[in-house]
Amino acid sequence: MVTAKWRSRNTLDELARSCEAIRMRWFLLIALTLVACATPQPKTVTPPPETPTPATQLRDAVLKGSHAHEFTRELADRIGPRLAGSPGDARAVAWAKAAMENLGLRDVRTEPVKVPHWVRGVETAQILTPAPQPLTVTAIGGSISTPEDGIEAELVEAASFDDLAKLPDAAVKGKIVFFSAVMARTATGEGYGANHRYRTDSASIAAKRGAVAVLVRSLSTDDARLPHTGAMMYADGAPKIPAAALSTPDADLLHRLGGRIRVRLVLTCQTLPDATSANVIGEIRGREKPEEIVVLGAHLDSWDLGSGAQDDGAGVGIVLETARQVLAANAPPRRTIRFVLFANEENGLRGGTAYAQAHKAELLKHVAAIEADGGDGAPTGLSYLGGPEQLAAVAPIAKLLAPLGVGAPEQAEHHGADLTPLRAAGVPMLSVHQDASRYFDWHHSADDTYDKIRPDQLARAAAAFAAVTYAAADSPSSFGRLPEPPPSGTKP
Ligand code: ZN
Ligand code: ZN
Repeated sequence: MVTAKWRSRNTLDELARSCEAIRMRWFLLIALTLVACATPQPKTVTPPPETPTPATQLRDAVLKGSHAHEFTRELADRIGPRLAGSPGDARAVAWAKAAMENLGLRDVRTEPVKVPHWVRGVETAQILTPAPQPLTVTAIGGSISTPEDGIEAELVEAASFDDLAKLPDAAVKGKIVFFSAVMARTATGEGYGANHRYRTDSASIAAKRGAVAVLVRSLSTDDARLPHTGAMMYADGAPKIPAAALSTPDADLLHRLGGRIRVRLVLTCQTLPDATSANVIGEIRGREKPEEIVVLGAHLDSWDLGSGAQDDGAGVGIVLETARQVLAANAPPRRTIRFVLFANEENGLRGGTAYAQAHKAELLKHVAAIEADGGDGAPTGLSYLGGPEQLAAVAPIAKLLAPLGVGAPEQAEHHGADLTPLRAAGVPMLSVHQDASRYFDWHHSADDTYDKIRPDQLARAAAAFAAVTYAAADSPSSFGRLPEPPPSGTKP
């Protein structure tokens, strides 16, 4: 009873307090309304209405009725994983050629490309001490295998290459080096750029110190117990040792355990003789200057763990949707748009290299190049390379993206990895930046599947790429040529 009475008095008190609070809220609301009425409000500036042009109509048509996700779904679900040289790669080339022909593009063709042929095999790892438990690992693309019965060794952790350099030789020799750097989640994907070298270079750097294998925390922002693969390279003059990526929870576990950890790693991956794949190409001929070319590309290959819906099925969807909508509008731009689906971006960049080689004689006629390789992320920016001449040509193109929330164009060394040889040859680059906040949750893992595609965001991205490509091909201005590139390229 006492408790009940206390409760009831308490309830009355609360009621009184809440009535008081309601009164106070009303008072504040009235006061704020009066203040708001008395304060002069800044005038909202309404942007001038857009004059419809073929580029704005194209953008709006893609926004309203994009099929980009349908092309992506076909490729990811019906063709599946398509690592260079695999049966899936050959299926993807045939599918892409048929898709371009069905759309009605001109001069649809496949241009053969010799590609590396790496196959994955078995991959297992276990902690042996302090207490046995399995680890989720995947071989990094290009890695050699372990001996048949695996490698068993003690682990040594390094958060960075500097950290490794500080360790005495005795602490590294005969050990498996565990690179534990954590990748940051950012909308720009900067975290990937910052940690990329741990996947590509760590095996050779550790091998030079006498390590027997490397385990690398996946370049990923997710917390799923799925490892993320990607390409690696062996440096000349360094012994070759096996390299595997750990899922982020397993990397966290090893980091928490600290101290003496013994691990066994088994990888049976191997590199077979080079195989033949192809770049798949189709065109919309320019109405005034058909010999001048704007390239819109994406890469057709994917890693083998997932079905490459985000990387780069979404980019393929953007390219094919742009082609579909430009054809449907029946208003070809001044210059030719060449749609290129590149082979072997992931573990060799042989498609981009072969394209630049095969088209060497007409590279001076390539007036701009654009690549979609940022998944289904909504557009966040437009960048270009060059000086004032380029800005004059790019500024009106950037305005087309204002309704998609994209601001003024920026000058940046930013382009798809397949375009690196074109960029080196002086071809101007245009880059639609995409929101990468979630891209690296799925990228290069078994989770890169169609269910992760957000059709509405992909439609926004497709609308941006379509508008930029069309406007570049239709621009009355020149984009000039680019100066020498800086030494480091873009990362696959
Ligand atoms: Zn990619
Ligand atoms: Zn990739």
